[in-house]
Amino acid sequence: MSDCIFCKIINGEIPSAKVFENDDVLAFLDISQVTKGHTLVIPKIHKEDVFDLDTETAEKLFSVVPAISRALRSEFDLKGLNMINNNGSFAGQEVFHYHLHLVPRYDEKDGIQKKFISHQAEYTPDDLQQIASAINQAIQI
Ligand code: 5GP
Ligand code: ZN
Repeated sequence: MSDCIFCKIINGEIPSAKVFENDDVLAFLDISQVTKGHTLVIPKIHKEDVFDLDTETAEKLFSVVPAISRALRSEFDLKGLNMINNNGSFAGQEVFHYHLHLVPRYDEKDGIQKKFISHQAEYTPDDLQQIASAINQAIQI
């Protein structure tokens, strides 16, 4: 897509620090470097978000993620790694070309925090079964 920053990175119009590339996938350093080694993994085909991602493109993208993650672990003294993917502006997406953030974790003050607020008390086991069943019936593969 002509006005997409990440398509411009793929075709070389905008420079990037490349971590990995094959025919279908590009991984490069996120310019913000939330932590050292913060990497974005993107499909070379323009797909806006996870809702737009087809199975084949997803397979190709995720097939390289473990190897890149292991490379980050072998290169840096990381204690863990968060994989983050924002879909839609409400969810914090700013660049509308699908991308998976690989964020190495070093310590408590490394620039990223996990904050999940549990609402477990509001759901009975039966509620969970009904919600799961509704989602299951909507899945189209
Ligand atoms: P989002 O908020 O959409 O999940 O993440 C977009 C990410 O793209 C941000 O972390 C931002 O730093 C990164 N980004 C935006 N523009 C550029 C760029 O031109 N080059 C690189 N390497 N990263 C970018
Ligand atoms: Zn694009």
